[in-house]
Amino acid sequence: MTTVFRNFIAGEFVSPAKAAPNLNPSNTTEVVGEYAQGTVEDLNAAVAAAKEAFPAWSRSNPQLRYDVLMKASNEVMARKEELGALLSREEGKTLPEGIGEVARAGQILSFFAAEALRLNGELVNSIRPGVGIEITREAVGVIGMITPWNFPIAIPCWKIAPALAYGNTVVIKPADLVPGSTWALVDILNRAGLPKGVLNLVMGRGSVVGQAMLEHPDVHAISFTGSVSTGRRIAAACVAANPMKKVQLEMGGKNPLVVLDDADLAVAVECAANGAFFSTGQRCTASSRLIVTDGIHDKFVDALTERLKGLVVDDALKSGTHIGPVVDQSQLDQDEKYIAIGRDEGAKLHWGGERLNRDNPGFFLQPALFTGVANTMRIAREEIFGPVAAVIRAKGYDEALAIANDTEFGLSAGICTTSLKYSSHFKRNAEAGMVMVNLPTAGVDYHVPFGGRKGSSYGPREQGAYAREFYTTVKTAYTLA
Ligand code: NAD
Repeated sequence: MTTVFRNFIAGEFVSPAKAAPNLNPSNTTEVVGEYAQGTVEDLNAAVAAAKEAFPAWSRSNPQLRYDVLMKASNEVMARKEELGALLSREEGKTLPEGIGEVARAGQILSFFAAEALRLNGELVNSIRPGVGIEITREAVGVIGMITPWNFPIAIPCWKIAPALAYGNTVVIKPADLVPGSTWALVDILNRAGLPKGVLNLVMGRGSVVGQAMLEHPDVHAISFTGSVSTGRRIAAACVAANPMKKVQLEMGGKNPLVVLDDADLAVAVECAANGAFFSTGQRCTASSRLIVTDGIHDKFVDALTERLKGLVVDDALKSGTHIGPVVDQSQLDQDEKYIAIGRDEGAKLHWGGERLNRDNPGFFLQPALFTGVANTMRIAREEIFGPVAAVIRAKGYDEALAIANDTEFGLSAGICTTSLKYSSHFKRNAEAGMVMVNLPTAGVDYHVPFGGRKGSSYGPREQGAYAREFYTTVKTAYTLA
C-alpha cells in the first residue's frame, strides 16, 4: 500500500478523508507520493490549534525559538541532497537547482533562529517630565500562509521561519502541485521541538482550504505568494471577511533586462540565459523582457541563440540537464498558448519553442526566444511563467528605461552596462523592488529584503530583518516613574 503523507494538525499527523498523487513532471508515470487533500474541517482544527498554542509560544524564551530553528536548519542542511532530489522530482527544476534551494532553506532557518534573539526595541525620552517610553514589537497571532509551486521549500521557509522566530503560530497550505517539500519541512520543524499546535500543515485545494483560511476569523494575518489574479482575489476575500486582517501579497512579474551597447556581451548573454530560462523560466523574477539597444542588438541575439542551442532540456534528475520540464500540463498549455499568441501578434519566433520528447513522458519544452517584439504585445505585457523571452529593440538608454518601466509589474529589473552613469541612473529610476546591475534579474540573497512594487507586491517586504514588519506589531508603552 502507498504511504499517504498526512496533514499535521495540533502536533499530530492526522489521517485524511482523501489523498491525491503528486506526479513527477520529468516522468508522469512516476508518483512522488500520495498527499492528503484537506477539508474545511481540517483547516478549522488547525486554526483552533494555532490559536490555543499562541499565548505560550508568543511569550516563549527566545532561546527555545532559536534552538528549534537552528536544529531544523542543521537537519535541512544535512539532508540537502535527499530533499533536493525530492524537490526536483515534484517541481522539475534541475537537481543542482533543487539542492541549492534546499540549502537556501537551511540558511533562512539559521538566519531567523538568530533573529529570535535579535528582536530588540527602543527606549525614547518623553516630552513629559518623568515619563519613559518603550517601543517594542510583539507577535501578531495566527498567521495563514498560502504558497506557490515554483519554490516548494524556500518560500514556505521564508514565511514559516520569521513567523515562528517572532512568536507567531502558523497554518500553512502549500501549492497542491508540490506538497512534498513543505511536508518534509514541517516534519523537520516538528521533530526539532516545536510545541503542539505552533505549526500546522493543511494540504489541499486553494479553493477549499485556502478560501477557508482567508475567511477564518481567528487567522490574524495572511501571507500569500502566487499569481496576480489569485492575489487580487485573496485581498478582496480578506477584506470581505475582516477588513482588519493583515495581508501580504507577493505576486508575478514581467521583469526587464536592459542590455546597452556598452555591455560586456558575455556577461549580458549569461544574465539573459540564466535570468530568462533557468528553472524553466518559472521564477517570478525571470527576465521575460530583454530590452536591447540598437548597437548591440544583433550581436546579442546571435550570441544568446548560440548559448540556447547548448542548453540541454531533459529529466530534472539527469546529470548534464540545464533545464528541466515545465511543471505540469496546464502550465505547458499556457506556455504554448503564449508562443502561438506571440506569432499571431507578429513577433518572430527566432529560436526554440518546440515540444520535446525524452526517454520518459514529461512536459519538456525548448526555450523560446522571440525577436521583433513591441512592448504593447501580450507576450511583453502578461506573465507567461515559462521558458519564453521577448527581445525588444530600443534606440538608446532613455528609450530602454521607458520600456522597462512601461509595465503593470515592478518586481525585479536588470541592466547590463559598463557605464557608471547609466547603472547609477537605472538603480534610481527603475520602477522595481529589486534592481540588478550586470546580474540576472533572478537570484537574490536571503538576508536582505525581497519584494516588488506596482502590481507585483502588496504589503511589507519578506526576508531579512525586514520580515519583522509583517510578522510583528508595534507597541508603545509609557511609564511615569
Ligand atoms: P497561484 O496563484 O495559482 O496559486 C498560489 C497558491 O494560491 C496555491 O497554493 C493555490 O492553491 C492557492 N489558491 C488558489 N486559489 C485560491 C483561493 N481562491 N483562495 C486561497 N488560495 C488559493 O500561483 P502558482 O501557479 O502556484 O504560482 C505561480 C505564480 O506565483 C506566478 O505568478 C509567480 O510569479 C508567482 N510567484 C511570486 C513570487 C514572489 O515572491 N513575488 C515568488 C514565486 C512565485
